[in-house]
Amino acid sequence: MFESSYLNKVYNELLIKSKNEPEFLQAVEEFLKSIDLIIQDHPDIEKYSIVERIVEPERIIMFRVPWVDDNNEIKVNRGFRVQFNSAIGPYKGGIRFDKSVTLSIMKFLGFEQMFKNSLTGLPMGGGKGGSDFSPTGKSDHEIMRFCQSFMSELYRHIGADLDVPAGDFGVGAREIGYLFGYYKKLKNEFTGAFTGKGLSFGGSLVRREATGYGVCYFAEEILKNIKNDSLKGKRVIVTGSGNVGTYTAMKAVELGAKVIAMSDISGYIYDENGVDVNYVRDIKEKQKKNLDSYLMYQPSCKFVPDYKSVWTIKADIIFPCATQNELGIEEAKKIVANGTMMVCEGANMPTTIEATDYLMDHNILFAPGKAANAGGVATSGLEMSQNSMRFSWTAAEVDSKLHSIMENIFETCYNTAKKVGKEGNLVVGANIAGFLKIYEAMVAEGVI
Ligand code: NDP
Repeated sequence: MFESSYLNKVYNELLIKSKNEPEFLQAVEEFLKSIDLIIQDHPDIEKYSIVERIVEPERIIMFRVPWVDDNNEIKVNRGFRVQFNSAIGPYKGGIRFDKSVTLSIMKFLGFEQMFKNSLTGLPMGGGKGGSDFSPTGKSDHEIMRFCQSFMSELYRHIGADLDVPAGDFGVGAREIGYLFGYYKKLKNEFTGAFTGKGLSFGGSLVRREATGYGVCYFAEEILKNIKNDSLKGKRVIVTGSGNVGTYTAMKAVELGAKVIAMSDISGYIYDENGVDVNYVRDIKEKQKKNLDSYLMYQPSCKFVPDYKSVWTIKADIIFPCATQNELGIEEAKKIVANGTMMVCEGANMPTTIEATDYLMDHNILFAPGKAANAGGVATSGLEMSQNSMRFSWTAAEVDSKLHSIMENIFETCYNTAKKVGKEGNLVVGANIAGFLKIYEAMVAEGVI
């Protein structure tokens, strides 16, 4: 599978050890395909068994999360925290609450997070956590009781200098408030052990918007540097209407693009005149409804109750911001046939390996999530700095730091890809640049 016999050996062993972890194996395979290009020039990678060590999390914590629902029935979920790698800083990565959560998904997310965090240039290691609990349809009290039970185990394993979780799928401002509140009570101290906090208790301005804004800043860099172009006037599709999707859509519109379609789990809305992205945010954040309710606001818009068919719409740029593997080979074929210019990932690993290869083989500009969506964790890093300094930057200050971090990430990925003879291949650039820093630290820190 790889040119390097060393990588083949390590990957074949992993295939056996992790045979029930398809998402994790997919993330590792994509990463190793890039590392294959530099392995001969870096003999220390094999000498110090770096690949064997980097694909093995430093620690996995799995725990029972019992809680009582509003009918006084006892429910039990499974909690996870995967502390993947701390070579360059404390573990850092979000918490996901969704019924689809498995160890494989936690490991793939923690693995990707390690390289993403390295790319930001900030001192953060990689981790991820979550539970197979879905907040959808639960009352506020049920969610609070669940969060408190989850934290009654997790608090032992996290801390401002040890492991700093944040939100992800299903974990927004409400859940973070409950999680952080209970952490503070159990530890009896107020420290920045969580990011994405509310503004009244240590959160950073622009953190909520940061992932989506960063996705657009990254897309702008690609268009400017590779095509001498911009988002202005582009027709855009955004999949997913959660935190990442909503703020990607809002920034895209601010930068002059027209968002013609957005999706959620209930289906997609389509309007050639442009979707009112502020109203979509209102539906999702305030009304907590599905996208079909957009029709009441804008009856001329089209609603299709099948999110999978959103890929048939012609657009210049697509931002997949929903979930892993939402864009497979069939979707990629439609995107190519529609003459799309760029796919810029907002979600983590939304594109399968086969689809990624197909898009790039057909000269579609492709931005991998681990680079394009790094603005969220970068701003979490800025929140950690503000918490340590007991100081708050203004929204303009945070946004400007976020913007330059995204410019730097693009430059790093682009230059790294060029250096290994793959100019324009940002997947290769992101994987190699993210890896090299961690690899150097792992060699320097010895066999631990
Ligand atoms: P949210 O829970 O806020 O939103 C997810 C959205 O995707 C919801 O609108 C959901 O629909 C929709 N959705 C889920 N599955 C599908 C699907 N198959 N097709 C279309 N829509 C779908 O999550 P986030 O926005 O926080 O996260 C989205 C992705 O971005 C994840 O991969 C996450 O790991 C990644 N990410 C998030 C970061 C963050 O800061 N939040 C940072 C970096 C990456 P519905 O509303 O109907 O439930």
